[in-house]
Amino acid sequence: MNIHEYQAKQIFAKYGVPTPKGIMVESVPAAVKAAEELGGPVWVVKAQIHAGGRGLGGGVKLAKSLEEVKELSEEILGMTLVTHQTDAAGKLVQKLYIEDGADIQAEYYLSVVLDRKLEMPSIVASTEGGMNIEDVAENTPEKIIKVPVDPAVGFQGFHGRELAFGLGITDKTEQKNIISFASKLFKLYMENDAEMIEINPLVRTGSGEFLALDGKMGFDNSALGRHPDIEAMRDLSEEDADEVEAAKYGLSYVALDGEIGCMVNGAGLAMGTMDTINHMGGTPANFLDVGGSANAETVAKGFEIILKNPNVKAIFVNIFGGIVRCDRIANGIIEATKITDVNVPVIVRLDGTNAPEASQILKKANISNLIVGDDLADGAAKAVAAAKGN
Ligand code: GDP
Ligand code: MN
Repeated sequence: MNIHEYQAKQIFAKYGVPTPKGIMVESVPAAVKAAEELGGPVWVVKAQIHAGGRGLGGGVKLAKSLEEVKELSEEILGMTLVTHQTDAAGKLVQKLYIEDGADIQAEYYLSVVLDRKLEMPSIVASTEGGMNIEDVAENTPEKIIKVPVDPAVGFQGFHGRELAFGLGITDKTEQKNIISFASKLFKLYMENDAEMIEINPLVRTGSGEFLALDGKMGFDNSALGRHPDIEAMRDLSEEDADEVEAAKYGLSYVALDGEIGCMVNGAGLAMGTMDTINHMGGTPANFLDVGGSANAETVAKGFEIILKNPNVKAIFVNIFGGIVRCDRIANGIIEATKITDVNVPVIVRLDGTNAPEASQILKKANISNLIVGDDLADGAAKAVAAAKGN
């Protein structure tokens, strides 16, 4: 789960990680009032959406007067912001963050992410702040430093010194400040079960202080039960509506850009099914795991969600009956064709518990455009052929 920049900064502030002062608003008058309260003389008007690259997209602008705060807020609030991290449709800006303008002497990049290879969180930093870090990694990888921190040991002085030296920070006060900054950031990363924190840019001010000018945070969904305060920060309007709808029914759905809808039980089998479709020359339109507790209603819902995607030319149902018995899936398919107009070929491969019964149920139902696959390869091949109109 991701949160907004202003929310990340609230968490930063709670842990003593310095950030500029700011106020989140949802209207132009509130923006002007917030700016008055902050005092100025320079403000930054920032679009709050769950995507980076807002600056380049025109969603972050500097205001030098209250009049400008008003004009820029009018411009940014309600705009559809397209950045390299949104899709082509972009994101509607419904919230603004009005922030104190910072005195920027230097810009850095700083993040904490999980290094899967090292099996520990790693602080990643660079002197090339304010830029697209992917480009820095591509063109000048030597300018990126990594400081892995073993969670059993926690953040220690030597981690901090490695970071400060790596960033070429030699001034004693500045060293002390960056070490304290990173130490607090690491603590909040661990205590909140964050998956990633990214600050780009982290800036050094004229007085040698470090400030998080930007703040992106993502969390481990499986740990949200321990963090009701963070779960409460969820903004459903920022998430894919179909994925949110699917989750209500216990379905894990991720939209993709291919043309074969997939309905599978188990994440591993879902991945395998998508690979097999690719192998047979097709492209999956989604990942959909109906899970272990699927019933006719949830399966019907799955069809509905898959069919919302106009690119879907065929649906491949690949279920291994264990916890979900195949006959329940078969009933779900029949039910779905009653509720939803399934106007594309449906290829069904059912195996495992009650597979023969399921096959009987499907045959008896006598649904046109329902094709039975004998095994995974056969089902995938038939789905690819059906999607191609063969
Ligand atoms: P992102 O583009 O979504 O990553 O949004 P950022 O929060 O990083 O803002 C984009 C850019 O706006 C930053 O890289 C800064 O250069 C600039 N910016 C943000 N806050 C301030 C500020 O307080 N003062 C000045 N001068 N520039 C700022
Ligand atoms: Mn940024």
